[in-house]
Amino acid sequence: MSLTVNALLRADLQDFAGYKSARSEALTGAVWLNANESAWANAGDAGGQLRRYPQPQPQALCARLAELYGVAPAQLLVGRGSDEGIDLLLRAFCLPGQGKVVLAPPVFGMYAVCARLHGAQVVEVPLRDGAAGLCADLAALGDAALAQGASLLFLCTPGNPSGELLALAEVAALAQRLRGRCLVIVDEAYLEYAEAPSAASLLAAHDNIAVLRTLSKAHALAGARVGCVLGSPALIAALRRCQVPYPIPEPVVEAALRSLQPAAVAASRAQVRDACALREQVRDALQGLPQVRRVYPSAGNFVLARFFDADAVFAALLAAGVVVRDMRALPQLGDALRISIGTAAECGRLFAALGAAVEVSP
Ligand SMILES: *Cc1c(COP(=O)(O)O)cnc(C)c1O
Repeated sequence: MSLTVNALLRADLQDFAGYKSARSEALTGAVWLNANESAWANAGDAGGQLRRYPQPQPQALCARLAELYGVAPAQLLVGRGSDEGIDLLLRAFCLPGQGKVVLAPPVFGMYAVCARLHGAQVVEVPLRDGAAGLCADLAALGDAALAQGASLLFLCTPGNPSGELLALAEVAALAQRLRGRCLVIVDEAYLEYAEAPSAASLLAAHDNIAVLRTLSKAHALAGARVGCVLGSPALIAALRRCQVPYPIPEPVVEAALRSLQPAAVAASRAQVRDACALREQVRDALQGLPQVRRVYPSAGNFVLARFFDADAVFAALLAAGVVVRDMRALPQLGDALRISIGTAAECGRLFAALGAAVEVSP
């Protein structure tokens, strides 16, 4: 086992084997009578595709995802979105009532939600609002993790909602500093929009890094619920023991494999480039509007902006049928809205609702 997994996995789970499903036993045969499945197909299930339990970690999908993310299959766990990865990390590495996680708010809400549900304590090191934008203070995050004895530290890059892209060298330095003491989780849900290298390239040198990837954003499959944790084989094996027996339904495996064929991936990359071009036009145009106080740089498929009267803008947009994300309840963001990048036509409607005649095109 790796140093980090040894040191940080919950002591009460060190010898926990998890559920041994019928599918997880390496048996071969021609007549399968070991899983209490029905011997007859459902009348509505043409071809009987759904009669059997799916593979616990669908091999073809895992192989394709590992190729896509540049890791070995043993370094990858597939689950129901990155949301499940976040939950598994909390459950494996935080003792309920005692474990601690370090976050840099304002940030994606699921880290704190999973921590709370699991009874883990959240240690907050807020983002700093400066000339460069809303930025994580990695030195302060590392200090907090060490001082509090936290077992998990969540980074989000590009940040949701900050839009900040972290430098990989700084992530590596933080992981080096926390080696054996704290697991650094790098959530790369929006990395495709940043055209930047993945922290997966740091896994070989840092056994205390885990990376979250998802098909929900750049691959346009939010409805399929497919996400991955990338990490050392020991980390992946530990998480697998905490996961449900059959996380990915068979129809989802098939849909994801179709959507990850080379031609589909190339088309997704073109869509990502369009979204990035539109993002810069939306930023520029927002910048020029009288209602807007500040627009942040963004490496994601969204733009975060502060308004002089965010309440009025939110209401006016809603009245025009344009729904944006209200950030006003988040710390430091009382006057902010987050706007996802839509098609050129949708962006046009956004600006029309803001009373501006702005034309954008990919
Ligand atoms: C959208 C998003 C995700 C994706 O979650 P899934 O469960 O994979 O859909 C993960 N992290 C962040 C920061 C996000 O914004």
